[in-house]
Amino acid sequence: MRLFEAIIDANHRAVAGDANAGLHPADFAEALPVVALTCIDPRLNALFPNALALPTDQFIWLRNAGNVITGPMSSTMRSLALACAIKGGREIAIIGHTDCQVAKTPTMKLLDELQALGVDRRRLPDNVADFFGTFVSERPNVIKACEFVRQSPLIGPKIPVHGLMIDTGTGKLDWVVNGYEAWSMPAKPDMIDFAKSSGTAIGSPGSLGDFHYGEMKFPDGRIGDASTAFVPASAKPASATAPPPLPSMKPQSPPPPKQAKVSAPPTIRPPTPRY
Ligand SMILES: [Zn+2]
Repeated sequence: MRLFEAIIDANHRAVAGDANAGLHPADFAEALPVVALTCIDPRLNALFPNALALPTDQFIWLRNAGNVITGPMSSTMRSLALACAIKGGREIAIIGHTDCQVAKTPTMKLLDELQALGVDRRRLPDNVADFFGTFVSERPNVIKACEFVRQSPLIGPKIPVHGLMIDTGTGKLDWVVNGYEAWSMPAKPDMIDFAKSSGTAIGSPGSLGDFHYGEMKFPDGRIGDASTAFVPASAKPASATAPPPLPSMKPQSPPPPKQAKVSAPPTIRPPTPRY
């Protein structure tokens, strides 16, 4: 079992109430640390990295509104690349979440909110939705982000790129893209066209220079196959308390009282803190 397969297995067992569910990080040393891109939603603060059963020092956390990647050369892509090249990230996970407000905010409402903050519409790009990368559904957004990462010339083929969804109520993780399986087929022409058009979107520098898309790997039909519809956990986490602190790690803040049910993560923890 590879790292993220073990992570999801442990996560599901923990959400189902198995107090002993967890990972031994030493068993996956070659796949760590993990680089994760998530949304800015504060409900996620109490869930990571506990929901992945990873110690904090093996979890490189990037966040933006909607875990959006706007192109294979975008600013977020550059941070993902540096997280791997400089901080030693070995696997990338794009982790969307349920009830994402980026997906639930129509463009007109976004414009109204910005205007209420004093933003002049005339100074915004014409296509505000493209500019901010807003979307209407979480799972396709995760798939699109994974495709951009896999296409990016900034990320080598040795880095698996996964897509996951996390339930903000239970901490349950589910596959969207299994990065160990999804990128083995040659590039498809339609995906190349998609990449070319996307590569010049806002957020990318407008040109990919001499990069050749035909050299890239693209997802085959298995994307999403491993996923099942989200089913709310029938069992609550065995404990509503915060996870036990790891050595050299500050105890996590207790969940806000008003969100006790929401913020209680599964009791997943790395059983072996030293490795
Ligand atoms: Zn969100």
